[in-house]
Amino acid sequence: MSMPPKMFALIFALLPTILAQDEPHDRCYDALSEQRALHHIRFLASDVLEGRATGSGGELAAASYIAATLEACQLEAMGDDGGWFQRCELTLDESTTVHSQNVAGLLRGSDPDEVVVLAAHYDHLGRGPYGSLAESDAQGQIHPGADDNASGVAACLELARVLVESGWQPRRSVLFLFFSGEERGNLGSEYYTAHPLVPLPQTVAMLNLDMVGRGQVGAFQVWGVGTAPDFAAQLKSVEVEVERRSGTELEPYYGAEDPGAGDNNAFHKQGIPSLLFHTGGHGDYHTPGDTWQEVEPAQLSALMRFALLSLIEITDADERLESPPARP
Ligand SMILES: [Zn+2]
Repeated sequence: MSMPPKMFALIFALLPTILAQDEPHDRCYDALSEQRALHHIRFLASDVLEGRATGSGGELAAASYIAATLEACQLEAMGDDGGWFQRCELTLDESTTVHSQNVAGLLRGSDPDEVVVLAAHYDHLGRGPYGSLAESDAQGQIHPGADDNASGVAACLELARVLVESGWQPRRSVLFLFFSGEERGNLGSEYYTAHPLVPLPQTVAMLNLDMVGRGQVGAFQVWGVGTAPDFAAQLKSVEVEVERRSGTELEPYYGAEDPGAGDNNAFHKQGIPSLLFHTGGHGDYHTPGDTWQEVEPAQLSALMRFALLSLIEITDADERLESPPARP
């Protein structure tokens, strides 16, 4: 029996879609779980960790939790002496220096020479007062920092899980970095770029997730789009793809300029194309009201899907991103 030409044409037209179903990045897209991410947020923002102030015991507990999760994902430990921590001394002010650590794990790609960084800061404000915007009657309370930035950490950990479990073989390596000391002025990321674990010339892009769990579903911001000529087209194709797959209408705001704040700034200063994913400010920002109960799971889900496909797009791109000139 011969196949009618129309049927033949239909199968031919559908072939890319049929083949694409089994791609590892389809498997990781489908496996992403905002409930797993929320579970991380609930722990990181719990009272036990007392707001994860830079150099505190609560912050160290958060770092240990992140390391244990990366180990369970079977990433490669990239810290000092074969461990997960990059230890550092951070100067908070003229009279205060603390011991702290960044956390680092690698998903190795086929290209030995290029790395894409996926990052989030895991410190927060403790009980203040530094950085606190609490009303006077709430001074001294724990600032749980669920959105800022347990949400970004949780999203990175969930991306690590699904990427490894899907069997994805990235072209470039993905270096997962979790920074200390962001709230005190990007101290962990500045330490990192002064003491990089992978040489900076091999670091082709940096994606930073900072405050990604609040706001209207599908409305979020991506800053730094102008730091590489290819970013705009890459992000637009990801936006269309996430809308097609999820049925959720996205309303991303693309900011061309690097906003100048956050850990992406440390990388941008070194001439590395850098993006900040962010779901916007809110009334609980830097107050004890930034709790896990206020995180919007559907928004976290939309943002994670967008960040996942952006990471894959940039990591598997044929050409290396063109870098912006280094900023003074
Ligand atoms: Zn903050």
